[in-house]
Amino acid sequence: MSRFSLEGKKALVTGANTGIGQAIAVSLAAAGAQVVCGGRRSCDETIGKIHDAGGAASALIIDFADPMAGRDVFTGAGYDILVNNAGIIRREDSVDFSETDWDDVMDVNAKALFFTCQAFAKEALAQDRQGKIVNIASLLSFQGGIRVPSYTASKHAVAGLTKLLANEWAARGINVNAIAPGYIATNNTEALRADEARNQAILERIPAGRWGDPEDIADTAVFLSAPASDYVHGAVINVDGGWLAR
Ligand code: NAP
Repeated sequence: MSRFSLEGKKALVTGANTGIGQAIAVSLAAAGAQVVCGGRRSCDETIGKIHDAGGAASALIIDFADPMAGRDVFTGAGYDILVNNAGIIRREDSVDFSETDWDDVMDVNAKALFFTCQAFAKEALAQDRQGKIVNIASLLSFQGGIRVPSYTASKHAVAGLTKLLANEWAARGINVNAIAPGYIATNNTEALRADEARNQAILERIPAGRWGDPEDIADTAVFLSAPASDYVHGAVINVDGGWLAR
């Protein structure tokens, strides 16, 4: 079997109803995984795409407004792969940034991500199963950004936690890695693309000269979920059209 195949694997993708999460769910299924599409609302569109392509998918309602929402998801459920994709962003000048906008973003992007990793690993270790965790980081895991303090803090946390968890679990059969997407055309970046001046400035700085598509991220997620990446631990892989190289 190809080292890039996910035949016989079961995966949970969080935030799978749209954007990058949807593309990851579709690509994992195309590689052979049985995909559970996690979302705080319906993932019917994603599941439809997977079924249309002949893949296997089901739904799980999960809302990380409660950062511990993943605590019981993995028990006895036979998961091999966890993709922590759910994430939110709030934009405001730092002098005016509210505690709510801090807490909401940190809860979903950092706290929920950590405790979902913990719940997945507890089960995998108890069952002596191999596991693959793919966390979705950001360019703001490396750079400061502007007017997005809680997002930047949370995505730096994602990169740090990915390395820490890899250090703890690599020898125990769990790979923990992350993908740092560049500027990808999704709901998350709609406001940026609608702002002509910002859009132009962003495009001029991307060596590839275009926004990324969710599928650009999804193929890297397949690699990090597959046996092909068994010796990759604690990596944060930029998929950014060259942005960070510049
Ligand atoms: P998106 O279209 O806004 O999707 C975000 C996903 O997270 C949605 O499925 C959303 O569900 C889900 N989500 C948000 N809050 C949640 C909660 N409380 N519980 C469960 N699910 C929740 O954005 P995207 O661009 O695809 O983002 C996906 C990931 O990539 C995020 O972690 C984001 O930070 C990261 N990222 C994106 C870019 C980019 O350029 N687009 C760049 C770097 C990193 P709803 O649809 O219900 O809101």
